[in-house]
Amino acid sequence: MDIDRSKISPMMQQYLEVKDKYQDCVLFFRLGDFYEMFFDDAITISKALELTLTGRDCGLEERAPMCGIPYHAADMYIKRLIDMGYKVAVCEQLTDPAETKGIVVRDVIRVVTPGTLTETSMLDDGANNYICSIFYVEENKTCGVASADISTGEAAVSFFEGKDMEADVINELSRCKPAEIIFDESFFSMKNVADFVKIRLDCAVTLRSKECFTDAAHMASLLEVFSVKNAAELGLADNRADTAAVCGLFDYIRETQKTTVSRFTELKLLQGDAFMGLDLNARRNLELTETLRSKEKKGSLLWVLDSTKTSMGRRMLRSWIEQPLKSPARIIERLDAVDALYKNSVVLADIQSLLERVYDLERLMTKVMYKSANPRDLKSLAATALQLPALKAELAKLAGSSKLLARYDSEISTLEEMARLVENAIMDEPPVSVKDGGVIRDGFNEELDSLRHIMTHGKEMIDDIEQREKDATGIKNLKIGYNRVFGYYLEVTRSYYELVPEGWIRKQTLANAERFITEELKNAENAILGAKDKALSLEADIFAEVRDFLATKLVPVQQTASAVAAVDVLSSFADVALRNNYVKPDIAIDGAIDIKAGRHPVVELVLEDEMFVPNDTYIDKKADRMAIITGPNMSGKSTYMRQTALIVLMAQTGSFVPADKAKISVVDKIFTRVGASDDLTAGQSTFMVEMSEVSDILRNATPDSLVILDEVGRGTSTFDGVSIARAVAEHICCSKKLGCKTLFATHYHELIGLENELEGVKNYSIAVNKHGGTIRFLRKIVRGGVDESYGVDVAKLAGLPAKVVSRARELLEEMEKQHNSVQANTVSDNGGQISFGSLGREAALAMLERTNIDELSDEECRSLLKDMLEAME
Ligand code: ADP
Ligand code: MG
Repeated sequence: MDIDRSKISPMMQQYLEVKDKYQDCVLFFRLGDFYEMFFDDAITISKALELTLTGRDCGLEERAPMCGIPYHAADMYIKRLIDMGYKVAVCEQLTDPAETKGIVVRDVIRVVTPGTLTETSMLDDGANNYICSIFYVEENKTCGVASADISTGEAAVSFFEGKDMEADVINELSRCKPAEIIFDESFFSMKNVADFVKIRLDCAVTLRSKECFTDAAHMASLLEVFSVKNAAELGLADNRADTAAVCGLFDYIRETQKTTVSRFTELKLLQGDAFMGLDLNARRNLELTETLRSKEKKGSLLWVLDSTKTSMGRRMLRSWIEQPLKSPARIIERLDAVDALYKNSVVLADIQSLLERVYDLERLMTKVMYKSANPRDLKSLAATALQLPALKAELAKLAGSSKLLARYDSEISTLEEMARLVENAIMDEPPVSVKDGGVIRDGFNEELDSLRHIMTHGKEMIDDIEQREKDATGIKNLKIGYNRVFGYYLEVTRSYYELVPEGWIRKQTLANAERFITEELKNAENAILGAKDKALSLEADIFAEVRDFLATKLVPVQQTASAVAAVDVLSSFADVALRNNYVKPDIAIDGAIDIKAGRHPVVELVLEDEMFVPNDTYIDKKADRMAIITGPNMSGKSTYMRQTALIVLMAQTGSFVPADKAKISVVDKIFTRVGASDDLTAGQSTFMVEMSEVSDILRNATPDSLVILDEVGRGTSTFDGVSIARAVAEHICCSKKLGCKTLFATHYHELIGLENELEGVKNYSIAVNKHGGTIRFLRKIVRGGVDESYGVDVAKLAGLPAKVVSRARELLEEMEKQHNSVQANTVSDNGGQISFGSLGREAALAMLERTNIDELSDEECRSLLKDMLEAME
């Protein structure tokens, strides 16, 4: 909007000057009890927030478009704008309008962006809110990625180089799921990363100048944030991409918060190789923290494993699931801790009930550091501290059986000093705001007590003076009165004038009375009238002192918070293990994964009418590297493969697993290529997406990885599909080329032949039983492939009209005849339909469990019984 600035009113001039500095933000301009928006901001935001668009005289011919929101509801509106992707600059009145001549001084005190939120009301308490900063150095092809959650005081940085640099950066971003990313121009040279951010990540991006990252001055404020003397103390080297990323990140944080706050106690240097590699596909396909379709937590692994009691624990659980470990020693440490809790369920129950009373120390501490904590926040901190001695006592009971729990016990401080101070200083149920007083306890501060005494006993003091003066002077009708002009006065009627003592000061003469004041009365008046204001400001000072004392405890609080969170997660693992019947996995190093009666952690909980059928898995790095799994649609192939991946992943986060027994060799990465991807919206065809995912896997997998391939090649014609699927299988299986553990589900029966041709391949299938014209899913995985797809049978099961089904059957038979005459000798070794008999008792019983007798005809019943008897033999 073009505005003639020479004509505009002074206040609007001020508005425009501020707005100039915050072009990329919506400017909330404080006017009295409202935040107003003007001109273009008003037009767009009134639409976005459905506010009424009005106008305000601004010196121009036309009124300035305007819309506004009441200041006390600002948080809610800011949150909505942030969710829509806006940034909001909050401009406050810095001088009191009542005491200012001319224009009130205004300036921006805070820029709210998605990645720099600190208000708990705007945050999800079960998830971190990360902002990431990326700095790429073209010359040596290195990249630094720094991340921080301002609301919890967490900060980390990673350094990437080498041929997988871009893939590693992408994985780190997939883990953080940042709300906002900042970078400079050089970012766009990392084409894959830039595409990934644009297409796959749903977050705000902010482009900054290179100087924001590299300017030497930023180092000084970084050191202040972490309260350290030099960069080396943080583990940062000069002139490196990671150092620049951190500097750029904290420069941006300072700029948005408008202050430097020493909120952070530690900068974690992430070594990429400490954690299992998981790309975004694997995270999504395995539904680690949200489901593929509805993006909800319910139905995800996180949902199953979450029995945490604190927000801190909930966030840590999420980050553990996002970052499974690779070090067997660290995994075993966690498993032993879970085991100790699992075996001592009384202690576990006590710990969990103590944790119920633990508040969000991290986010409360952020408010303390930013001086925005209110009296109730301090109470919450103290209430939490009061639980800690008992929590430590419980942990001490298990210290003998778990080194990790012993360590967490030692890292938890009881924070007594803090608790005592808050308990002594702050009332039991304080108001939210310090403004109205009533926050500081009686007896905590003498001056405040006497002020309060004066406030409540003012009337008595005056009465007391009146009585004393009456007695001293003998003026029988002496009265103390009050008016706004003279304050308190002694009133003497004409007949007593001669009794008025020397020292009284005459103030006013009325028709038949005189009014006086005395030194004492004046003092009493000052005390009474000043007491309230003084008490309020004194309360505010004391409160600030208490709060600032807590700020000095940042380091122990932060350390306590993270130990408590970890205890919460481990307890959650133990609790879930007890409830869902999980076992402690054995961590091995021979490369084999051996699971007995494994279950899918989510599917077993959500199945309503059926029982989940457990299955074994055995894969290793030698003769059983690749399992080719055939079976009709809907038989349970995808479920089986995901279940295996999830069990491995759970074990590596330190959780027990849904199985009767499990031996897990640590894997370095898990890859998945599962089902139709959700990238159709991004404009790529399914087949393209599929192939690029497969090529990513081939490029990045190592012999220690676990690869899940689900129906590769489906997106193209059969011959192409078979050829691609087979070539991929050959490449992965070949130990010279890759040789990693692989589960490969396919509907191309041609692949069954690989078992005889390639070393390391084993065929499996999911058993079905066909009797009468109906197939039944047994959900049991068995050795050997199937060369029949049962597609028509599944279609029938899905309710395709009978006529269409029988026509399809006709066509199928015809085509099979032709096909068989052409290539009679493709696959057949141990393929063929699995006979029901080979499945044994277990499968027969499983099948019986799933049978609804009412739905069967007599003939079907008889045939079922016959099958079962045969199986039991
Ligand atoms: P496929 O990949 O072979 O088409 P899915 O793995 O998608 O089959 O499984 C289809 C459905 O079968 C699942 O949604 C689940 O409800 C059920 N299912 C799969 N495996 C089992 C099992 N082991 N026990 C019970 N039900 C199962
Ligand atoms: Mg499937």
